[in-house]
Amino acid sequence: MARVSDPDPHNRLQVPGSAYYSDSVPPASQPVPDTKKRDVSLYQFFAPGGVLSRTHPAYEFRRGQLQMAQAVEQALEEKRHLIVEAGTGTGKTLAYLVPVIRSGKRVIISTGTKNLQEQLFHKDIPFLEQALFPNGEAKLKVCYMKGRNNYLCRKKLYDLTDQPVLSGLEEIEHYRAIAAWEKVTQSGDKAELASLPEASALWHKLDARSDTCLGQKCSAWDRCFITEMHRRAMESDIIIVNHHLFFADLSIKQQAEYAPDAGILPEVGAVIFDEAHELEDVAGSYFGVSVSNARFEELCRDVEVSLQRNHMLSASMSGALKSVRERAPFFFALLPQGDGRFSFENRREFMEENGDEFLGLQQSLGRLGSELENLPSKPEEVFNFARRAQELQVQLAFLMESEDRNTVFWIERRRGGRDRQNVFLQATPIDVAPILKTCLFDKLQCAVLTSATLAVGGSFEYMRQRLGLEHARETVLPSHFDYENQALFYVPPDLPDPRTPQFAAKAADRIRRLLEVSRGRAFVLFTSYAQMNDVYQRLLGELEFPMLLQGDAPKTALLEEFRLTPPAVLFAT
Ligand code: SF4
Repeated sequence: MARVSDPDPHNRLQVPGSAYYSDSVPPASQPVPDTKKRDVSLYQFFAPGGVLSRTHPAYEFRRGQLQMAQAVEQALEEKRHLIVEAGTGTGKTLAYLVPVIRSGKRVIISTGTKNLQEQLFHKDIPFLEQALFPNGEAKLKVCYMKGRNNYLCRKKLYDLTDQPVLSGLEEIEHYRAIAAWEKVTQSGDKAELASLPEASALWHKLDARSDTCLGQKCSAWDRCFITEMHRRAMESDIIIVNHHLFFADLSIKQQAEYAPDAGILPEVGAVIFDEAHELEDVAGSYFGVSVSNARFEELCRDVEVSLQRNHMLSASMSGALKSVRERAPFFFALLPQGDGRFSFENRREFMEENGDEFLGLQQSLGRLGSELENLPSKPEEVFNFARRAQELQVQLAFLMESEDRNTVFWIERRRGGRDRQNVFLQATPIDVAPILKTCLFDKLQCAVLTSATLAVGGSFEYMRQRLGLEHARETVLPSHFDYENQALFYVPPDLPDPRTPQFAAKAADRIRRLLEVSRGRAFVLFTSYAQMNDVYQRLLGELEFPMLLQGDAPKTALLEEFRLTPPAVLFAT
């Protein structure tokens, strides 16, 4: 799709009051016409005395908000890309939502976090609908899509119901709750199941991830929650997603060479990326390759359960599964040791020492693939298993043998449930710019990238280079908050290095003292789950405030409890 070329190489927005802005900001006393329609101007909406001031209980005029809205509107009209850095407190969401609604285009809004998605869907859009159409003259068609693993796969649940393989009382309890809920839920979104812990192992076996999905060949396709979500998206004006879903979808479309039915997000007139500082990382993870020990286990489990159910589990198939089950953990155990994420620099030496184990694992995958392909009159899911086995073979070969200079190879160890460890072998492109330029920015009419932190030294040059965004208008709007006078920033000068064993005890003690000063009412945020759990356990029973821990319930339920419990302290990552 063609975009207008820009005569100004830096594409900087002009300052307020110059020709770029069609509205100028009046003094507060100047009356604003009482227009409450979709065609109310941005000035009539945001300015003092305007629609927002009459409808929002905590209205304050924010010049930056109006400026941002005007910039977004111009980008949408002129079909250009735009980067806006707007400090916390600008009111960015309304500043892009109002022009989006006025444009009448179908727009995707992609965010970095679920919380922002929920704010947009449950708070900002209903508010705008009421403010702009107070008599219900129009209804906005809005769809809120999460990553596929948030939704229930009906096929997996029905298969499990036919032949329940559950481990432990907890899973039986969760199974009963999910099975009862499946009969009544409209969305299949697990956030509705407040009693289900975030890290439920059973949910992981039942979610609608794409690698296990049979697509149109699935017997539950017509009633599938993903099919329904896709249908809703096709009918919506505003589609709210997160960056993970957006880039997962983009990479599926790229692999399928933009076949019309590839992916679940429809064609749109514009994409607004809020929390755009996360784009490079998220994009890198979807245009890279990742293989974990869990993927081998899941493949073997899925094959076994399915073939047992269909009375097709032969001795030779069991032998092939046994071989993968033995060789995969053995191979992953040989990988260099280390915590968290670290680079896998010595792949060549590793392969010189452990090439036989690598080949053994590849052969066992090949054998499993052949066994699956040779099954007579196979059920549909078997084709999917064979594809997964082959994908693992190809990806593992790339991870261990590729000499691609634009790729960084690394290992990540994460704690899974029940004291198990998940090991991820990863390959991430060093530079996603060429991919994003061709797959995204050259194809989109208008992309708006916004966040509180995007510029480096007032310039977007670095970011534009990293993302392959060659032509874009740019603006930096100042924060609405008076940080110097209203915020306190404390850096403990004497804590040990976070990597040392002494850190958790010292940090817990300091956090306890700070919480006593703040009388609770705090988020305590960590960069790792291990540290979060450790400090939480140390403080359990030590604090007089209610303590909430990420993972004990869905995030929305926890946040709601946090909001409703004034002195509560929430431990999260
Ligand atoms: S179409 Fe895919 S996600 Fe939907 S029920 Fe079937 S297998 Fe599950």
